Amino acid sequence: MTDAPPTPLELDGWRHVYSGKVRDLYVPADTPEGGRAERMLVVASDRVSAFDHVLSPGIPDKGVLLTTLSLWWFDQLAGADGGRSIPNHLEPSRLLTRGPDGVPNTPDDVVSLIPDEVIGRAMVVRSLDMQPIECVVRGYLTGSGWAEYLAEGTVCGIRLPEGLSNGDRLPEPIFTPAFKAPMGEHDENISFERTVEIVGAQRAEELRDLSLEIYRRAARTAEARGLILADTKFEFGLDENGVLTLADEVLTSDSSRYWDASAWESGTTPEERMASFDKQIVRDWLAANWPAPREGEPPRLPHEIVERTAARYRELLERLTG
Ligand code: ATP
Ligand code: MG
Repeated sequence: MTDAPPTPLELDGWRHVYSGKVRDLYVPADTPEGGRAERMLVVASDRVSAFDHVLSPGIPDKGVLLTTLSLWWFDQLAGADGGRSIPNHLEPSRLLTRGPDGVPNTPDDVVSLIPDEVIGRAMVVRSLDMQPIECVVRGYLTGSGWAEYLAEGTVCGIRLPEGLSNGDRLPEPIFTPAFKAPMGEHDENISFERTVEIVGAQRAEELRDLSLEIYRRAARTAEARGLILADTKFEFGLDENGVLTLADEVLTSDSSRYWDASAWESGTTPEERMASFDKQIVRDWLAANWPAPREGEPPRLPHEIVERTAARYRELLERLTG
């Protein structure tokens, strides 16, 4: 990655420890240097990345939109959708109550920990021992999955039926893990066998089964709102009791591909079928305007692309939670 790292905000009561391409991580200021914190503050910025490059300018309100979406999904998966409760990394009291608008209330003790500058785009989470696997689930064929299928007839080593097109629904959702690369390196698609070598057979099965369960549930929820959840990525960590816990952001338009269901049904070209509510708009623009190997400074996103992406992010939130 050639892009300069972002300058993190100074936040009262917190110490900055890490910045990813999109989010900044903080631990309580009284955490000893190098010591383990119980809680963390995850702050989502308006930064947008594509092909592992952070682009300029950011997408207005993206941090708030993605945080709101993530919190809403955590709540759905904690049982609001009628399913069993999936353990997640939000502070336990986070989901206990809901306001009149249906949005979960954040208890005062947790809210008071979130500095004013980042309210709405920050989550207080339990610090977990993260698993080094990005748990990708695909229900539809596109992106890197489509590229591999074209070349080899497989996705992450899983053989698929012949004759599929870009954007087609898969016979059933598949688990296609990636090894989570250290900062600055590309995540690497791996086979299930390789996942077993990294985390052990039992853990690998647990990650796969939980990921598929969450994907199926979320895809049903999305479908009821006229949306297709084409694919998504989860991250899990172990809590202090060794419980596998859903972490990071969930089912956001950064970690997932969402399409409009009616456009997909009636569309004839891949562009018409995959009417995206995610950063595909940015990826497509960058692919067309900055060909591989994409060295040096990426070109600046035009106003029109930024606005269109922001509008689609807002529309996704409204369609899902509205
Ligand atoms: P990328 O830019 O490729 O996404 P990244 O995933 O390292 O890089 P971010 O997503 O911006 O960067 O930062 C979030 C980081 O916080 C990730 O490394 C994620 O694994 C980690 N994380 C998320 N939830 C927790 C948690 N509960 N405990 C510990 N680490 C967490
Ligand atoms: Mg990430």
